[in-house]
This record gives sequence, C-alpha cells and structure tokens, in this order.
Amino acid sequence: MDIHEYQAKEVLSNFGVEIPAGALAYSPEQAAYRAREMGGDKWIVKAQVHAGGRGKAGGVKLCDTDDEIQSACEDMFGKKLVTHQTGPEGKGIYRVYVEAAVPIDREIYLGFVLDRTSQRIMIVASAEGGMEIEEISETKPESIVRSTVEPAVGLRDFQAREIAFKLGIEPGLTQAMVRTLQGCYLAFRELDATMVEINPLVVTGDNRILALDAKMTFDDNALFRHPQISELRDKSQEDPREARAADRGLSYVGLDGNIGCIVNGAGLAMATMDTIKLAGGEPANFLDIGGGATPERVAKAFRLVMSDENVQAVLVNIFAGINRCDWVAEGVVQALKEVKVDVPVIVRLAGTNVEEGQKILAKSGLPIIRATTLMEAAERSVAAWKSDHPLNLKAV
Ligand code: ADP
Ligand code: MG
Repeated sequence: MDIHEYQAKEVLSNFGVEIPAGALAYSPEQAAYRAREMGGDKWIVKAQVHAGGRGKAGGVKLCDTDDEIQSACEDMFGKKLVTHQTGPEGKGIYRVYVEAAVPIDREIYLGFVLDRTSQRIMIVASAEGGMEIEEISETKPESIVRSTVEPAVGLRDFQAREIAFKLGIEPGLTQAMVRTLQGCYLAFRELDATMVEINPLVVTGDNRILALDAKMTFDDNALFRHPQISELRDKSQEDPREARAADRGLSYVGLDGNIGCIVNGAGLAMATMDTIKLAGGEPANFLDIGGGATPERVAKAFRLVMSDENVQAVLVNIFAGINRCDWVAEGVVQALKEVKVDVPVIVRLAGTNVEEGQKILAKSGLPIIRATTLMEAAERSVAAWKSDHPLNLKAV
C-alpha cells in the first residue's frame, strides 16, 4: 500500500527525521488559511497524489502570496495530475500540502528498499539528488552508494556515518545525517515497509538536513498488525478494480488485455497468464481466488472480472487439490446464473473429482466452453475472443 507524501513525512518525523513546517488542505481557502497560520513568506503548494514526478508535471508550485496559493490550488483541486509515474489516465488531486519553502544548498537522493538477493534492507543513496534514481543510475552510476543492513544487529551508527561520509556530508552535519538514516531504517523495519524514499533530502542554507519529499510503501500482508498505517489508505488513488478486489479479500491486479482470468493459486495464475500470451492473447488481469473456491467466491470473482469493460472472454482455470472440481463447477454454474456474463466463458478443471465437475458443467445447459489442458484452455480463450461473433461460438 502506498501513502501520500504528507503522511509519509508525519510517519518519518515520528522516527526522528526532520521535515519542514507544513499543513494539509482540502480547499484553496483552507490552503491560504493554513499558510497564514504557519507564517513565513514563501510556500510550496504540493498536489498529494500517489506518484512522483509531480514537480515537472505542475503539481509543485512556489507561491509568495495568499492569492498565488489560492490560484495554484484552483489549478490543482479536482484535476487529474499526469506524471511519468501515473500512466496517461493520471491521478485525482483532492488534497494539497502547503509547506514552508526551504533554502536548498544540496539535494541528496536517499532510498531504502528490500534487496531480494541479499534478503536485507538496502540503503541506496546518491549525492546527485533531485533526479529520479533511474536517471541517476543511467547518467551517474558511480555516484550511487549502496549499503545493506545486517538484520541481527540493525543499522549501526558507524555504518550510517560511513554513508554520510561517502555522500560528502560535512562533519558538522554527520550526526543529523545519522539521525535521518536511523529514523528511516527504524520506520521501515517497525512498520513493515517495503520502500522508503526521500528525494530530495536537502542540506539547507541554514545548515539543517530536511526531507523535502517522502514516499513510503507498505507490505499489504503485514497491514493487519499496523492499524494506524491501514488508516492512511486513500482509495481515490488506487485502480478502482484493485480496490474492489482488496475489499473482497481477492488478490487482483488489473492489466491491459481482454481475456479475464479466474484462477486459484498465485503460481497457477501466473502460469495461466503466460499460457494466454503464448497462445497469442493478452490477459486482462491477474486474479487469485485463493484456496477455498466456494460458489460465493467464484461469483464475486466473476462480478469483479466483468466490471472491467475490456474483458471479451473469461478463462476459469482451477486446479482442485484440497478443493473439489464438482464444488467449483457448481460455483461457476451458480455464478453464471447470478452475474450477467455476456462474453464467452472457458473453463478448465483439473484434480479431485474432475469427472463430476465436467458433468455438472455439461448438464447446466450453459454455453460454457470446456478444455482439458491449460494450453487448450488458453487457445480456446484466444479463439473465442478473436472470433467476430464470440457468443455464437459453439460450446464444446
Ligand atoms: P516530485 O518528486 O513529485 O516532483 P518533490 O516533493 O520532490 O516532488 O518536489 C519537487 C522539487 O520541488 C524538489 O526536488 C525540490 O527542488 C522542490 N521542493 C519541494 N519541496 C520544497 C520545499 N519545501 N522548499 C523548497 N523547494 C522544495
Ligand atoms: Mg521528489
């Protein structure tokens, strides 16, 4: 789960990371009011969307007066901000953050990620801040400092000092840099984050180290033990299909193709997507309905898949190990009676009680296209999607 910049700043500041003064606003008037309340004479108005690259896309504006704050906000509220990270559809702006403008001396890139190779939290930093890390690794790869943290001992101060030294932080600010690194590391670990990024972390004209931007992503599977983080979820920033699935306890990732997939087990779902591609099609989604594929779950999955208007065929691929094919078949039949499915449906069942399952599908009288192997299922899905009148395709 992603959170907003202002939320990540608050989280990190609770762990000792220094941030500029700032306040959240839900309207242009409120933004101006909160800036007056904060004091100062220069403010930055920042669109709160779950994406980076806002500066270049007009989502970060420097303002000197009340009027400028209001008009910057009017350009933002209710609009979609399109950055290189949002995709062409953009993300809606419903909140802005007003922050004290800070005199910047140096911009540093600082990131914490999970390094799967070493199975450790890795700190990635560069003295070439202000650019995206992808750009830094292309243009200034030698400037990148990497350091992995041994989980049994945690981030030690000497290790943090070493990073500060490699970034060329002046000696008087080493302690502040160590506090920043320790704060990010603790927040990452304590809250089950998968990513913390501060870009830029700045050294100010008045010799402070401040996080001017902040991004955090959390492990969805650990959210149950962090209710205070779950509360920060903002559904307006999520793919509506994925949000609906998460609310129903299904693992769903929306994709661009047109063959909807209903599968049990993440590995089988991945294999199904691969096979569809191999057969010349494009999957519309990844959907794992999990172990117990009850009729209700199957119906929920159909509803979800059919809510994607790009879907032109649905492939149900179930391998029944603990499950039973006859139950699943009943689920499919029930779902097709309950949910309006006006595209061809291809079903491949394998495993326990497969013959029973096939009989139930055959007896239902529904125009279900059946398949025995995964390849056959994928080929029939692609054929059904490609045919001009897919609904006329004979059930086999
Ligand atoms: P994004 O990464 O989405 O473009 P940032 O929060 O990093 O958004 O802002 C873009 C740029 O705006 C920063 O690199 C920094 O140069 C400038 N900036 C952001 N916040 C402030 C601030 N409080 N004071 C001064 N400059 C800022
Ligand atoms: Mg940034």
